[in-house]
Amino acid sequence: MEFLQPATWPEALAMKAAHPEALPIAGGTDVMVEINFDRQRPASVIDLTRIADLDEWGMDGAFLRIGAGVTYARIIDELGDRLPGLAMASRTVGSPQIRNRGTVGGNLGSASPAGDAHPPLLASDALVELASATGARRLPAREFYIGPKRNAMRKDELIAAFLVEPAKGPQQFCKVGTRNAMVIAVCSFAVALDAERRQVGTGIGSAAPTPVTAGEAETFMEGVLDEGGLWERPTAIPASALARFGELVAAAARPIDDVRGTAAYRRHALAVLARRSLTWAWDEHRSSASA
Ligand SMILES: Cc1cc2nc3c(=O)[nH]c(=O)nc-3n(C[C@H](O)[C@H](O)[C@H](O)COP(=O)(O)OP(=O)(O)OC[C@H]3O[C@@H](n4cnc5c(N)ncnc54)[C@H](O)[C@@H]3O)c2cc1C
Repeated sequence: MEFLQPATWPEALAMKAAHPEALPIAGGTDVMVEINFDRQRPASVIDLTRIADLDEWGMDGAFLRIGAGVTYARIIDELGDRLPGLAMASRTVGSPQIRNRGTVGGNLGSASPAGDAHPPLLASDALVELASATGARRLPAREFYIGPKRNAMRKDELIAAFLVEPAKGPQQFCKVGTRNAMVIAVCSFAVALDAERRQVGTGIGSAAPTPVTAGEAETFMEGVLDEGGLWERPTAIPASALARFGELVAAAARPIDDVRGTAAYRRHALAVLARRSLTWAWDEHRSSASA
């Protein structure tokens, strides 16, 4: 196996252009499992861990631009106040060791429907920045996932960063697993309230061929909050509206039966997660509005 080890970002992009089949490796928490179980035998690997640019984050206009190599542990420690939904999801990833090595860039690279970073990225309308030797482009996360473990990255591209606005309202993330830790999601759900734009963002994990949003549920709940004047006078969301929101989230999923759970269970659980997480987020909005 050829081992390529660029020291700079331009060098990494040049190497990827020259070796489009080379497999990038960041934390290695997915790549090494694939190699150790002989599911992949790449002829060459590009080690991205020496590239300082990938470990940086900062403001870029209205967005936080977070390098693809920033680990879950750093998201929790350094960005938990600005990205509470992503931080909640990050706290559920693997173990401390996995959170110290694993990166959001790697989660995007693997594009597993069960990846925990995806629902909060979808709920808060994140962008993914892809770069090649010929230039960079930014793609909405909603267009990035194109199939099971497939994403929109070209063979000559690498993931440079993801961009997301600091939270403009409460965010929540919920995950159902077969045990409390070190678990692949049976299903997961993220919600992000944007009090400025009066928007409700959603993201569903592990219940469709790709991570998906629940567009009808978003539009429905935005209507309930707008028409009821709830953003101005934040009283409780009517139980019937919460129930409908849950139903629409469940309807947006396209789950399968597999070893972790049945499709029917996933739909049921998603409806419950959606109701609960929206209630928690709305309660937080109500208490901050009345403070
Ligand atoms: C014990 C264990 C528990 C786990 N638990 C969870 C969990 O709870 N939730 C969860 O979501 N995941 C979990 N995972 C999976 C894994 O930790 C995550 O997907 C993690 O985000 C991968 O990040 P990484 O940096 O280790 O990626 P790597 O393994 O280095 O790479 C993953 C993929 O992304 C590509 N890649 C990485 N960086 C780039 C880049 N900059 N540009 C282009 N392509 C890139 C690689 O080529 C590869 O295809 C677990 C893994 C293990 C081993």
